Amino acid sequence: MSEQKLEIVKTEDKKPKPETDQIPFGKTFTDHMFVMDYETDSGWYNPRIVPYEPLTLDPAAMIFHYGQTVFEGLKAYRAEDDRILLFRPSQNLQRLNRSSERLSIPPIDEERVMYYLTQLISLEQDWVPSTQGTALYIRPFIIATETNLAVAPSHSYKFMIILSPVGPYFSGGLKPVKINVEDQFTRAVKGGTGTAKTAGNYSSGYQAQAKANKEGHADVLWLDGVEKRYIEEVGSMNIFFKINGEVVTPELNGSILNGITRMSIIELLKKWGIPVSERKISIAELYQVYEEGGLEEAFGTGTAAVISPVGELNWLGHQMVVNNHEIGELSQKLYDTITGIQTGKVEDRHEWTVEV
Ligand code: PMP
Repeated sequence: MSEQKLEIVKTEDKKPKPETDQIPFGKTFTDHMFVMDYETDSGWYNPRIVPYEPLTLDPAAMIFHYGQTVFEGLKAYRAEDDRILLFRPSQNLQRLNRSSERLSIPPIDEERVMYYLTQLISLEQDWVPSTQGTALYIRPFIIATETNLAVAPSHSYKFMIILSPVGPYFSGGLKPVKINVEDQFTRAVKGGTGTAKTAGNYSSGYQAQAKANKEGHADVLWLDGVEKRYIEEVGSMNIFFKINGEVVTPELNGSILNGITRMSIIELLKKWGIPVSERKISIAELYQVYEEGGLEEAFGTGTAAVISPVGELNWLGHQMVVNNHEIGELSQKLYDTITGIQTGKVEDRHEWTVEV
């Protein structure tokens, strides 16, 4: 990327800020956005912060036809002393580049993008809400913009960052959810795009999600796409089980997303001396453990909820009620620790937070 000065064009028409504890996810956006462009001949160029506005794209822009796009999701938190903190943002930028590689999209310069990101958040700092559980959600993404219906990588792209204030994921504290173990549809297979944050992985899950919702489940637990045997992950979360005192999570097998909350939890558990293993775990093994009384806790992990306790799993007519639909001790401790670090209440011994 050529060294280029960040251009900043400020809006003259600031929007009113919403009531922070009542904001639906992803519908409200701040006053400004970051944009830069890419052409094969020049690399990434023209980095700029401009007023938030719609894009104009040719109907033949490649993004609309073959889904060449990647995205990220992270949050800026307001600490009690008013500092604004990001949680492991360099991990998100590294993952963005890994996703881009899989989708044949050119890489961004992580250090420069970190600078652009912090400049954008500084400009929009009044949009970072302060009520407990709220945050400013950050959505970096890249789209293929070349006007061309050829089935081939685009020669031009747009990288953008938009910001959206979000309310608490759980109003009134953590709440265990019911999950359907999906036995028909497949999310990803080894060698596919499951480890990338790319649009098609999400829209291809909607049918299974709708089926689960219809039966009163909040989310889907995906199994491997070949044998429908091994546990992979939940909708937009990784999954953990506490089994006879040991914490087990599916290994990174080439089809699940390498969650940043997941990696943070593994590091915390190791530090606390709690046995944790990343391995293959089949749904049949889980059911057997459940029948023997060894399934102590289950929880999903991700940026949105941090920890989402699982109160019930349903698999081919077998019901597994976890911890009597109550929040497990370990789930609560992990939630309190990670949200504490994110908001500056718990000492950050890992250097996970970055002040804007
Ligand atoms: N799996 C999928 C498919 C996801 O979309 C997400 C959300 N990014 C996660 C897991 C959790 O990842 P993270 O902890 O980095 O938010």
